[in-house]
Amino acid sequence: MANIVWHTKLRIYLDLTRDDLGHPEFPGLWETVYRTDRLYAARGVPMAERDLQCGGVCQEAGVEAWMHLRLRAGRREAVHEKAEDEQRHTLPMSDEHKAYQERILRVAEEGGFKGASEVRTRVGRSWIQTDTLVEGADGRRIGWEVQLSSAGVHGPRSVRARAAKAEKNGITPAWHTDRADYARRNDTHWTRSNNLPAYVIAKTGDLRVVSGFRVLDFWRCDVRALYPCPNGVRRCGRFHATPKVRDILFDDLVRQSAAGTVVPVLFRVGGTTHRFWVTHADHDRLEDLRGDDTQLPPAREPEDAFRASRNRPTCRPVPLATWAPQPGRQLPTAGMPIQPAAPASETALAQSPAGTQASFRPALHQSGLPEELISLQQTADEAHAQLQRLNDHEERSHQRRVWREAAVAVQTAVTQYAMTKRLNRYEVEELLRRTVRHPRTPPGAAL
Ligand SMILES: [Zn+2]
Ligand SMILES: [Zn+2]
Repeated sequence: MANIVWHTKLRIYLDLTRDDLGHPEFPGLWETVYRTDRLYAARGVPMAERDLQCGGVCQEAGVEAWMHLRLRAGRREAVHEKAEDEQRHTLPMSDEHKAYQERILRVAEEGGFKGASEVRTRVGRSWIQTDTLVEGADGRRIGWEVQLSSAGVHGPRSVRARAAKAEKNGITPAWHTDRADYARRNDTHWTRSNNLPAYVIAKTGDLRVVSGFRVLDFWRCDVRALYPCPNGVRRCGRFHATPKVRDILFDDLVRQSAAGTVVPVLFRVGGTTHRFWVTHADHDRLEDLRGDDTQLPPAREPEDAFRASRNRPTCRPVPLATWAPQPGRQLPTAGMPIQPAAPASETALAQSPAGTQASFRPALHQSGLPEELISLQQTADEAHAQLQRLNDHEERSHQRRVWREAAVAVQTAVTQYAMTKRLNRYEVEELLRRTVRHPRTPPGAAL
């Protein structure tokens, strides 16, 4: 028997513990569904064509288990067609599983967080069943799901859907296993410990997470780099991040994920999205890198040290106002790298009268770049500098968005300008950044 039925045609869950089946918007739902099912039964329609499936344990295990409805002593019941599906519901939780649940709750409590096991969170017309739910800092909720060797060879099949549903409803999914084959899957942020007996899991000693947590190595893609460029064969001169597997203690993972100092991250390599946990500091650096991979994202101190020094040294871009205007000065062509294939009429950027460069604003900076690009770059740099000065999580998230938008604006403008002028986009970007960030350098000198 099961209390939750999935109606495959209506695409709704029927909660048999509630008079209205959890759907006050459909009066008389039970009568309709029950009578239809009885009618099918009388006509000999096979259960697999009667639209009712187990929506609980079986569905979570990725099994389509067909059911029929009955009334027993006035009680509504849904019955599995097959006895082995029924058994799935009565299978006792393993001692190891229970030991994990208890350990998570104990460790969370020691860290000052509350938690509970077998939590059902109602969301809209259905719900989320969580193995062990930890209420973390700032409203953070970590939904632990423990899947051990006893769970079966194929493993849970709807992991991505379940994890996504949890995430969408404010629960960070945390799936833990002792099976290497589950841990290799990318459907959620799996963590793995070795297969251990319950009494070891229950103990307070070290319980190590051997996969699922990484540290990010940030490096410059030049001839001295240890790793190949993820974007191609050649050295691109930009900065990349490479995740490296690092052990973490299970208790630390429980507490730090609740505190928000260890967070899940998505990491794309080729066509594959990898999912794992990193420190919040690494997560921030990765976000910074994604916004601008031409500079090394600054390292952050651990969260504890954070409070000690609120004022990080920052490299503030010099405002344009400090520039000595040089009216009438010949614009240096050397400042603008030109692609060999560009037609002669377009190479003479400096010599051509401003009016003929119709597609871009005629106002040119002394570097040869349009003033508009300069000011967009300055805005982005200011936003970035501001981000570096902030320590508060909320403020940083907001400022990171501001910076990203500014960075996108400047990148779009650079692309358009380079296309219009048939210049090498990468070199335009380099010149622009150098001009804004190191204004003392004579224009074009470093090219
Ligand atoms: Zn079932
Ligand atoms: Zn590279």
